[in-house]
Amino acid sequence: MNIGIVGLGLIGGSLGLDLRSHGHRVLGVSRKAATCERAIERGAVDDASVSLSLLKSADVVFLCTPLGAMEATVDELIPHLTSATVLTDVGSVKGWVVRTLEPRWANFVGGHPMAGNTETGIDAAQFGLFTHAPYVLTPTELTPIEAIKTVEGLVQPLQTRLYHCHPDEHDRAVAWISHLPVMVSASLIASCLDEPDRAVLQLAKALASSGFRDTSRVGGGNPELGVMMARYNRDALLRSLTVYRDHLDQLIAQVAQADWTAIEARLCHNQKARPEFVEVPPLEA
Ligand code: NAP
Repeated sequence: MNIGIVGLGLIGGSLGLDLRSHGHRVLGVSRKAATCERAIERGAVDDASVSLSLLKSADVVFLCTPLGAMEATVDELIPHLTSATVLTDVGSVKGWVVRTLEPRWANFVGGHPMAGNTETGIDAAQFGLFTHAPYVLTPTELTPIEAIKTVEGLVQPLQTRLYHCHPDEHDRAVAWISHLPVMVSASLIASCLDEPDRAVLQLAKALASSGFRDTSRVGGGNPELGVMMARYNRDALLRSLTVYRDHLDQLIAQVAQADWTAIEARLCHNQKARPEFVEVPPLEA
């Protein structure tokens, strides 16, 4: 199949590496010529250009730009596509994306590979990034069944775990497990930086080890991605942040009241619940 990828960064480049290894011809478009050259060099694409006209022969186009560039990119892309071309995106937010792109292109399927790291750009792209990771598709009642099957047929062989849900359900779910953690982790780093004694702050930096590395990782990543989560998933994120603040308030009260029993009960409950979020179910045969 001829696959188009717009936005040759971490996600677009990684998809290119994987899809090429499955025998597809991958055509890449990015904003900078240097990125296009690097994508060819890295083997993420067969051909690349800064012009969307390269994608006129694409059967499927993956939109992998930052969320803020998607609407304008699709308006520019449409004149180059045939009506049979399936368009899908990889954006971390689905409600806004689907509401914006579905009216523009009938053969559109919203998608979100739940994989990534804190790096950005084509040099961060990696082969096998999506292996065993969830890949969410968010079709609506308007999405053509054939378009859904086409996207499934491309991403399932990458050994992803496919899920389907409504775009708004996706946004509420990822607010809890992706967008809230970014904000909490960022607040953790910011709180440490508020230590007024410079010597203590220096000592804290020197002593920080695996626990701090784990809990600060997502908050110390790509700022653009964090802003996009807040901007395009504002309602669900606000709901999650408010609930999180309530839990912090309860903890503050329990610590202040030296209520160790309540704290222990809370931590035991969390310890039991965590595996349900992080244990990977086996792939369906
Ligand atoms: P990224 O590494 O910064 O890659 C995005 C690339 O898009 C940039 O390298 C840039 O390449 C290119 N670009 C920017 N504006 C463009 C435009 N107007 N037209 C064409 N190309 C443009 O970011 P990413 O992490 O891959 O994120 C891309 C998308 O994946 C986002 O929508 C994000 O929500 C989604 N996502 C991210 C993650 C994650 O963990 N990072 C996970 C799942 C989904 P140039 O060098 O050419 O400017």
